[in-house]
Amino acid sequence: MTVLDLFRMDGKVAVVTGGNRGIGKAIATALAEAGATVVVAARDAERNDQAVAEISKAGPAAHAVTTDVTSRTDLVHLRDTVTERLGPIDVLINNAGVGIHGESLKVDDEGWDRVMATNLDAVWKASQVIGEQMVARRSGAIVNVGSMSGMIVNRPQWHAPYAVSKAGVHHLTRSLAAEWAPHGVRVNAIAPGYTKTEISDIDDPKWKHYWIDEVPMQRYAQSAEIAPSALYLASAASTFVTGEILVIDGGYTLW
Ligand code: NDP
Repeated sequence: MTVLDLFRMDGKVAVVTGGNRGIGKAIATALAEAGATVVVAARDAERNDQAVAEISKAGPAAHAVTTDVTSRTDLVHLRDTVTERLGPIDVLINNAGVGIHGESLKVDDEGWDRVMATNLDAVWKASQVIGEQMVARRSGAIVNVGSMSGMIVNRPQWHAPYAVSKAGVHHLTRSLAAEWAPHGVRVNAIAPGYTKTEISDIDDPKWKHYWIDEVPMQRYAQSAEIAPSALYLASAASTFVTGEILVIDGGYTLW
């Protein structure tokens, strides 16, 4: 056994919410490359199938279960379907998320509710639904995708509901980590900085000052640079790590 073997995920079943594009797909691909059987859980069935075809080239055949993470019924269906077809779930990556921009006085209740339902409530529900199985088995790793925006007030890109949802994810991570540590379940989070995906209109020149010039590394991330940290927290390379919020932001939150 070498240290690299600790990152292997052979025989593990990993569910990635929102795994059909962006950061989620990069994490799903990394887990598959490490040997895990990956299940993509997002709403768009066609994109799920496309992602599954690509992820399957990296490792064992991947699967998709069409899921709206805001629905507890869908999450129970996801857990039961995966367990029946592939066995119990070893890894849950709570990645699905939506963005919102705008000054707080211009955000309506629908905007607030949508962001909270997807980014925070769904992490709570999925962790409960799948965590119950993990606690019963005394084994499992949950990795939540938070954000650097949950660590700081990211002026002047006002997005209070998004930042609050991600700060909530970070605290939920620590709360569940403490509660479930004695039950053999680890709960950690990654907090990415600016990353080029569909959620971010990152190449819009109006944001360049903040998304490149203000970043100590003077650039934004690619999704593939975020994924290895999720693999680390999901794998046996981090067996004594729980409640950690791993910031991956090119140094943005340093100043
Ligand atoms: P994308 O918009 O590229 O992907 C979002 C994913 O979430 C899609 O797969 C989408 O699939 C899924 N999703 C959204 N709503 C739901 C839902 N109700 N049920 C199931 N799946 C859903 O975004 P990113 O890859 O950029 O974001 C991934 C995560 O990373 C998010 O949590 C985001 O907040 C976080 N993050 C992103 C950063 C960035 O700069 N990009 C920075 C910091 C954090 P579908 O529409 O098919 O359901």
